[in-house]
Amino acid sequence: MIKQKHQDGVPILTYHSVQVDGNNYATNDHIGLAEDLEVISFSGWTVISLDQLVAAFIQQCMDALPHPCVAITFDDGSWFDWYDLPHPSFGPQRSFHNILLDFVAVNPQYKNAQGLATSFVIVSPQARVSLDQNCLIGKGWWSDEWWVQAQSEGLLNIQNHSWDHKHHRIEQALRFGNDYGSFENIKDFAECHWQIDQGQAYLDALLGSGSARYFAYPYGHCPDILAERYLPTHQQQTGVVAAFTTEPEPVTQASNRWRLPRYVFRRDWSSLSGLQGLLDSLQS
Ligand SMILES: [Zn+2]
Repeated sequence: MIKQKHQDGVPILTYHSVQVDGNNYATNDHIGLAEDLEVISFSGWTVISLDQLVAAFIQQCMDALPHPCVAITFDDGSWFDWYDLPHPSFGPQRSFHNILLDFVAVNPQYKNAQGLATSFVIVSPQARVSLDQNCLIGKGWWSDEWWVQAQSEGLLNIQNHSWDHKHHRIEQALRFGNDYGSFENIKDFAECHWQIDQGQAYLDALLGSGSARYFAYPYGHCPDILAERYLPTHQQQTGVVAAFTTEPEPVTQASNRWRLPRYVFRRDWSSLSGLQGLLDSLQS
């Protein structure tokens, strides 16, 4: 008799739509996402939403999730998440959203899926203008006019990736304090408030009260002041119920709610066999 495999934790896989450095799997997060979804599905894994995962984690009933299962998140939230765009060096790119729609078209079990992936967005409009000019090509490809449509359509869940990412390319006048280029050095609760609560308020105003529930630490940097002090004690105020790092581990019932781990494409796997190996390693 074949023994049913046991799943040791749920992996969250993370992609960045601005990461286009070529047009093959290892150099392009769009191609990576599309091919990974095929492997995930072909291998018999189910894609669950972050809502499903977090609810099961908090209620301590992760055993009741469909097994084996995986969750998918995107970071930074540029137009490459939503619109097909002509990359200035590498040509037309299928958006993450359209890649999800392509996937649903051949996997009808996901036809009514809500939050098939979660986009963690940099919330500050001024910060995104700065990033669009300094990191992209200044065409307005980091504006947020797609967030409402994404959220109401339901396939992509929009969540908080901080107010300005403490990104080193943000112009000086917009910054809160120093130490940009790292999210490790959050000094005090005033800075926690600046990075977390402003984003929560903006998202809730745009997408509906109570929409913003998850926070993903920029750069995966997870300072103790946020994970140990601010987030656990300000849940009512912020509305954040769980936070995500980029520790390369699966989420288990023993994970820390304010440091839920995620795997990152290209850092933690960069081939289809690498993904298959990762998934296999979580089953025993
Ligand atoms: Zn980021």
